[in-house]
Amino acid sequence: MILGEDKSKFPSGNALFINTEDKKVLIDTNPGEKIISTFLESQFNISLSDITDIILSHAHLDHARGLATVFEASGGSIFGHSDTLKRCEKRVRIGLYAGIPLKEIHHFEAFGESLGFKDRSYPSSKKVALEDKQKIEFNNIAIIAHETNAHCLHMLDYEIIDGDIRILLSCDYDFTPVPWYGVPQRGAAVSSFKSATKQLVERNANYIISSHRIKPINLEKQKEELKQYLELINKRTHRAVNLLNLEDENMLNDMGDFVYPVSKMKEYYSDHYVHCAKNWDKWILLAHLEDAWRLGKVECVDGGNDKFLERCIEERHYLRNQVENLLIQGWAEKTLDEEMPYSLPLNSIWKKI
Ligand SMILES: [Zn+2]
Repeated sequence: MILGEDKSKFPSGNALFINTEDKKVLIDTNPGEKIISTFLESQFNISLSDITDIILSHAHLDHARGLATVFEASGGSIFGHSDTLKRCEKRVRIGLYAGIPLKEIHHFEAFGESLGFKDRSYPSSKKVALEDKQKIEFNNIAIIAHETNAHCLHMLDYEIIDGDIRILLSCDYDFTPVPWYGVPQRGAAVSSFKSATKQLVERNANYIISSHRIKPINLEKQKEELKQYLELINKRTHRAVNLLNLEDENMLNDMGDFVYPVSKMKEYYSDHYVHCAKNWDKWILLAHLEDAWRLGKVECVDGGNDKFLERCIEERHYLRNQVENLLIQGWAEKTLDEEMPYSLPLNSIWKKI
């Protein structure tokens, strides 16, 4: 494991290095050039230029930010889902995909740049698209990709098989106090995330390595860790309900500091990061309000021009399947074309039942 900065908390994260006889494989490039090269030199006496293969889980900044530098130094092949391969070349695409509104996308781009993320086209001869369940082999090590859509669309987690040992890189099913549910799974973000995490644990890997924890989770501890993680996520839904006062007017835009302490962050973090965090905080709050609606604890009285919420209000109950595909597909395709299919419904109004 190549640990990220600041205990691997966002916007940092871990990478995984696999050293085989003639393949030097790096999974995710987040910690950035400096940390990765220091690690390679001190542990294996090799440099960035010796990397032969780069594997990406998804194109979020806390996973792919060092990609351009690692590629420029090594010329290694880049593996990832075809969507990830398209997305990782442009910050704007990643930003829209991660829920930053178009008018604030410059903050995301500046934030990405401050982390070392570069817009860059990679030669098609160097790109290898992976699909769900695809197996790739590097000498005696096999890696199987698994597509899990509950953190973000087309994220691949990787199962690394070395003889009897199986290690799972769970990426952003991260078992930390700040789980993030991807933007497009509107109406089902929290429940999808919970069931995807359960399925991950059911794979019984010897170790789970998350992108944002500094220690692997042993097989014996995984069930207990899962239980605590799910409890933490459920508590967040309760907290979202408790944020609402009893009157009708609870506008999403007026609520904040739900997960990210945005008002305090201003003192310590860049303006650009704070702008991004403010949006992410509201996306997470929205996900939990929708979860609470599913559980019959709140309802939305005004959708604030949000297609999904307006359909729910019109049909007088919470729905998901009818619009889910439309929303998800639209999101994936349009954010690749650098458009927003829908935005954060800041003016939506919520009430307790
Ligand atoms: Zn992510």
